[in-house]
This record gives sequence, structure tokens and C-alpha cells, in this order.
Amino acid sequence: MGEQPGEVWVVVEQTGGRPAEVSFELLGKARELAAHGGGSRTSAVIMGSGVGHLAEELVAGGADRVYIVEDHRLENYVNNTYALVLEYLIKKYRPEIVLCSSSFQGSELSATVAARLETGLAAHCVDLYINSRGDLVQVVPAFGGMVLGDILCPGSRPQMASVKPGVFQKPERDTGRTGVVIKEEAAVLNGYISPLRAVRTIRREPSELPLEKAETVVAGGWGVGAEAWPYLEQLAAELSGALGCTRPALDEGWAKGEHALIGASGKTVRPRAYIGFGISGTTHHVVGMKDSGIIININTDPGAPVFQVSDYGVVADAKKFLPLLLEKIREHKGK
Ligand SMILES: Cc1cc2nc3c(=O)[nH]c(=O)nc-3n(C[C@H](O)[C@H](O)[C@H](O)COP(=O)(O)OP(=O)(O)OC[C@H]3O[C@@H](n4cnc5c(N)ncnc54)[C@H](O)[C@@H]3O)c2cc1C
Repeated sequence: MGEQPGEVWVVVEQTGGRPAEVSFELLGKARELAAHGGGSRTSAVIMGSGVGHLAEELVAGGADRVYIVEDHRLENYVNNTYALVLEYLIKKYRPEIVLCSSSFQGSELSATVAARLETGLAAHCVDLYINSRGDLVQVVPAFGGMVLGDILCPGSRPQMASVKPGVFQKPERDTGRTGVVIKEEAAVLNGYISPLRAVRTIRREPSELPLEKAETVVAGGWGVGAEAWPYLEQLAAELSGALGCTRPALDEGWAKGEHALIGASGKTVRPRAYIGFGISGTTHHVVGMKDSGIIININTDPGAPVFQVSDYGVVADAKKFLPLLLEKIREHKGK
């Protein structure tokens, strides 16, 4: 009898016993991969202290099995300790696929463990599917975002991938589902003295409307320029929306921080309306906004690729267009 294929794993991210939304998004995708021959079943792996109560929620979210490692040494995320435990679990259970979040924590953990296991890891995937040979196809933007590349890892296992929050839709909870809970010990940490120790976790609540919750997103790119950038901020405020940006606008320091970046290495947004100014439309950016309701773009170049994903396009100079648009909106509001 042949060996049973390995499972599709999702490494669940949690802070203080609160699971990250992305873990549920990944569980949904993991179920799809398992159903298409990617693995025998969908499993969630959770490490921490006081996380046992999450098993039920993870089963309702799509896990057939939940591996739980509860230990006081795992209370706060520390790369060394978490990586040791995850490596131990993977070697013991030999999953076929391991999915992590492309958050700071997931990116670091997946890279450490993949290197130790000498297996492949595709980071910031924008899609995942199983090909006709049963291998995981990991889709990532490549060559400056102009194309989407398929990455395969045929020669080693597990196949590891990280995905940003918001790329996949979170499935509906199904409280009728049943699953198996497997408790594991963190014995691999016995006698291990970590050179790193997390002292405490400070959670900073965002002071502005988060991009992913806004119904209107105004986004700015390289074409806007430093002088016209304040108009974008005013426009986002007038429309009660949030302000996003492309990588160059962030690197120039026009945008306020990494939290505003939209795209492959930033956030994925699905607002009712997305209005982009001076954005060319590389895949790196488009993967983060293409599922928005109405997409409007303003660009001086009629051939800009962004117009291919736009419902409405305006060929205009954003620097001139923005103040005029603001004036009209304020007029309309009677200001
Ligand atoms: C690994 C990797 C990950 C990346 N991740 C991301 C990501 O998450 N998000 C992201 O955005 N980028 C990302 N990038 C960068 C990405 O490849 C592009 O370089 C970037 O999206 C381009 O930004 P842009 O459209 O603002 O600038 P450009 O590509 O330079 O386009 C500027 C556009 O503005 C137009 N324009 C110029 N002047 C005006 C004007 N006065 N009025 C109106 N239009 C004007 C031009 O016609 C042009 O279309 C990543 C790159 C790599 C390598």
C-alpha cells in the first residue's frame, strides 16, 4: 500500500489568543487545495500559550485537524522558539503543503523553517492552485510586476508559501463541522536557551480609517508628485475614505507609512470605489486593488496598463485634475 499523501497545513497566527483573519482566509484556500489533490486533508497548526480554545473556531473555519502546541515558552512570538517547534512538527507529520501569512511574523517564520528543511518557499503569493501533476503552483508577480510567475517546488517537501492578508476570501464559518484535535508538547525546547526573548507585545490601534475597511480608497502613485500629494489627502478626507499608495510614493516619503501600501507586498483592498492618480498599473499594485467595486484611474498616458483594469479612465494631469476635482466636490457639498 502506498504512503498516504501529506496534509495541507495552515500555520495559524495569533496574538494574545486572538487569531489573525488571514489564518481563516488561508484555511479556505487550503481546503480548496486539498480538494484538488494537494493533500489528504486540511490542518491548522497553532503554537502559543492559552490557545487551546481556538481549536473549535479553527475547525469551524475549515480545519479537519488542529495541532496545538501550548507552552509558556511560546506565549509571545519569538522566531527561534517558534521555528524549532514548527520544524519538529513538520518533520514528524510530513505535510505536503505549509501555508503561512506574509505578515512580519509569518514571513520570518516561514523563511527560517524553509531554510532549515532545505525546501522551497514562495513569498507574497497572489494565487495558489494544484496543477495536473498534483504540485502546488505558487503565483507571484515577477519582473517588476509586469508578469505573473508560476513557482513550483517539485523536488522537495513540504511546498511552502506565504500569502498576505486579504488576498483570499475568508469562508463562512460552519459550526456543524467536526475535527480532530492533536495536542503536541514543545519538548524540543527543553534545555534550549533562546538568545532572544520577547518581553511584551504592544498593540497599536490605527489612528486613521484602515485601508481595508474603507468604502472609498483614494490611491496615489509616482505621477502625483510631492506638491500635489496634499490634495490626495484632502480628497480622501472629503470622500470619508482612506488614502493608499504605490511603492514609489511610499519610498519618496509622500505617503505616511507602510500601512498605506497597496499591492503584492502591501494590502489588498476591495472598497466600493477605488480612485487612482498617477499609477501605471504594474501587477505588483494591481493584485492589491483589482477586486474593488468601481475602479477609476487618472493618468496622463492613454496607454497606461492601469486603464485595462479600470471601469472609468481619465487621461489628464493629476496635478491639475486634483484641485479642480476637490473644488467641485466642495461646491457640491455647499462648502
Ligand atoms: C518584489 C516587489 C514587490 C512590489 N510590491 C509592490 C506593492 O505591493 N505595491 C506597489 O504599488 N508596488 C510594488 N512594487 C513596485 C512595482 O513593481 C511598481 O514599481 C510600482 O507599483 C509602480 O508605481 P507607480 O505606478 O506609482 O509608478 P510608475 O510605474 O512610475 O508610474 C507612474 C505613472 O504615473 C503617470 N503619470 C506621470 N505624471 C503624471 C501626472 N502628472 N498625472 C497623472 N499621471 C501621471 C505615468 O504615465 C505612469 O503611468 C513591488 C516591486 C517589487 C520588485
